[in-house]
Amino acid sequence: MSATSGMLGARILELADRLAAHSDLPGALSCTYLTPAHRASAKELAQWMQAAGMAVSIDGVGNVVGRYTAAQATNRTVIIGSHYDTVVDAGKYDGRLGILTGLVVIDHLNRTGRRFPFAVELIGFAEEEGLRFSASYIGSTAVAGSFDRGLLARRDRDGVSLAEAISATGFDPADIPKLARARQDLAGYLEVHIEQGPVLLQEGLPLGVVTAIAGNCRYWLTVSGQAGHAGTVPMGFRRDAVAAAADIVLAVEHRCSNVPTLVGTVGRIEVPGGATNVIPGRCELSLDIRAGDDVTRDAAIADVRAEIDAIAQRRGVTVEIKEIQRMGAVACSARVQTLFADAIARTGITPRFLPSGAGHDAVNFGGITDTGMLFVRCGNGGVSHSPREIVTAEDADLGARVLLDVLQHYEE
Ligand SMILES: [Zn+2]
Repeated sequence: MSATSGMLGARILELADRLAAHSDLPGALSCTYLTPAHRASAKELAQWMQAAGMAVSIDGVGNVVGRYTAAQATNRTVIIGSHYDTVVDAGKYDGRLGILTGLVVIDHLNRTGRRFPFAVELIGFAEEEGLRFSASYIGSTAVAGSFDRGLLARRDRDGVSLAEAISATGFDPADIPKLARARQDLAGYLEVHIEQGPVLLQEGLPLGVVTAIAGNCRYWLTVSGQAGHAGTVPMGFRRDAVAAAADIVLAVEHRCSNVPTLVGTVGRIEVPGGATNVIPGRCELSLDIRAGDDVTRDAAIADVRAEIDAIAQRRGVTVEIKEIQRMGAVACSARVQTLFADAIARTGITPRFLPSGAGHDAVNFGGITDTGMLFVRCGNGGVSHSPREIVTAEDADLGARVLLDVLQHYEE
């Protein structure tokens, strides 16, 4: 590897810059599912994969799939995947780092004429963030065979359903189940991802081996009180939906504090028809609760629900709680964790094992094949989902070298 030292990382960063040129917004990176910028990103990724020696297609839900064939005819396949959609005003590396790391590694294998007893499939998943249809993992669930058909009726803010958006690309949504891989063909799933947190940065380590991916539960809460005139209704007579929502936000923060791996967040709060001189009669808010294990998470959810009931009673409001998503925590394969750890150790770095608080495409493969993740250090205090997200070329390079090493030792 010494001949390529440093070069793979620089190439990854250069490609991330080029991919970020496709955006829904001028002057900021936003790549939302099946927008023109999203389609252009897929096309460019497909061209790069082809140039790196892969047979490439863009599947019916928009995943970019590049296949690097095995040394001999076989269906056995190791998938390397991550996503290319982004949040609004995003960083350039969330998701894309994993695709581009796989890309430079396969390009290197192709140039050096190296093939394995298994095929390597690089997949740029079309949708992970869940922005457009409030549904995460459209791309990876299609490939893993767990796509939820119920999501096809979901509509975006413009009233376009997921089924309509997919049909508009020329693919029949009824055929999504055909995109699933046969389980017996899968030899593993590997994902490289920016850590999106500060742990590796604080410990001065470039890489980490993921032990488990936290499951999350997402809810949409509607608080209904009584609207009224801000000047005429005395405080004691009010049933203020926003004041109740504020109590809920603080209750979530209180319950989720000081428990290892447990986190709770209200990321959206809306006051429909809100005005300065109107007591809010209605308030809607999101709720996201995660933990490294389902028991810890579910206990927190039960307590938060009980607290919401108490707040509703005390304030004379009603709270409707709608579950949007429920994902169980997924443990990474012990064998793949060891492969990553051994490869990290061979670079002279002490392997650090850590859980992922964020969900990743890998969760959808946990139950069906040997699944593992490698975290790459996130700079700038660990900030992600922001244009301030950074990765250094040196760290990206180490990530690529470790992924290459894992593939080389995969079936020993
Ligand atoms: Zn991501």
